[in-house]
Amino acid sequence: MTGREEILHLLAKYHRFILGCHLHPDGDAIGSLLALGLALETAGKDVAMVVPGGVPVIYRFLEGTEKILPAPSLTPEVIIALDCADRERLLLPETVFASGAPVINIDHHLSNSMFGDFNHVFPEAAATGEIVHDLLIGGGFALDKRIAEAIYTAVATDTGFFRFSNTSGRVFALAAGLVATYGISPSRIAEEVYEERSYDSLRLLGEVLSTLRLAEDGKVAWMAMSRQLMVLYPVPLEETENFVNSTISIRGVEVGLFFKEVGPEETKVSWRSKIAVDVSRLAAHFGGGGHARAAGCTIKAPLAQAIDQVLLLLREYYAGAGLKNTAEEERERV
Ligand code: 5GP
Ligand code: MN
Repeated sequence: MTGREEILHLLAKYHRFILGCHLHPDGDAIGSLLALGLALETAGKDVAMVVPGGVPVIYRFLEGTEKILPAPSLTPEVIIALDCADRERLLLPETVFASGAPVINIDHHLSNSMFGDFNHVFPEAAATGEIVHDLLIGGGFALDKRIAEAIYTAVATDTGFFRFSNTSGRVFALAAGLVATYGISPSRIAEEVYEERSYDSLRLLGEVLSTLRLAEDGKVAWMAMSRQLMVLYPVPLEETENFVNSTISIRGVEVGLFFKEVGPEETKVSWRSKIAVDVSRLAAHFGGGGHARAAGCTIKAPLAQAIDQVLLLLREYYAGAGLKNTAEEERERV
């Protein structure tokens, strides 16, 4: 692990940075990338903030996202990965790594593979945005309203707008400070992220909800989105990000699953949990990962088969087949 002082030393010493985040960027990925990128730029550094597929539409309200480009505009001295658990999910063109520049890995995923040359990884942080904020304060970087909004969005989205179990006193103090000092508007940010959806995305949610089923005596709830539905209601994938929350909102449900048929032989699974089920460990059985309460994986199988495979694993889990490594045990290990 690389401590804050050493990371700050690297940020001060070098001048050309490429910043990237994880595949299918969410609010924390975009927010932490933008906050660090803008702060480095204000400090006089050359910065390329890179998201190859472009910034998801729902985050484009953030001032500064127009500076995030699909390809790097410089040869880096340092590459910084934000909110990214492993190298394979880092959304940067391979050519970037040809430079041989060292990689700084700044993240909060429990399952982080420590793929960087410098790893600044804190699973106890609610969001990568919280870690970036700590770095910016520690390094004496100048914050402004754009940076404050980016950090707020990162922390707000990763805590489900201050609802999930990672919502700590620290998170509230951080958010309160940003609102009080920079005059950002929590209601506007919540509206931009959650209330700018298309008509089609709500109609799609209706169709997806009609696939909702229970398993394991009501401890598991799952629902699925077929290619057919995605063709019928063509909405960007990020607008379906929150669909999974419906599964976990059911009384008695411990594990909620949302299956998306992203290709003919490819199914993306979103995992959510309440109480003591660590879904990052279950998702790891399919090569995925994430956090104890929110994880994901991609299974190379058609939708129906992927559903069968996951439900079988959950059957084994609930039958006590040696998979009961709970979030509590995980915490004890740290
Ligand atoms: P989501 O279900 O919203 O896509 O992802 C939930 C969490 O799991 C996020 O923190 C995300 O980074 C992580 N995650 C999602 N898919 C994968 C995956 O395929 N591999 C790994 N390692 N993490 C994932
Ligand atoms: Mn995150």
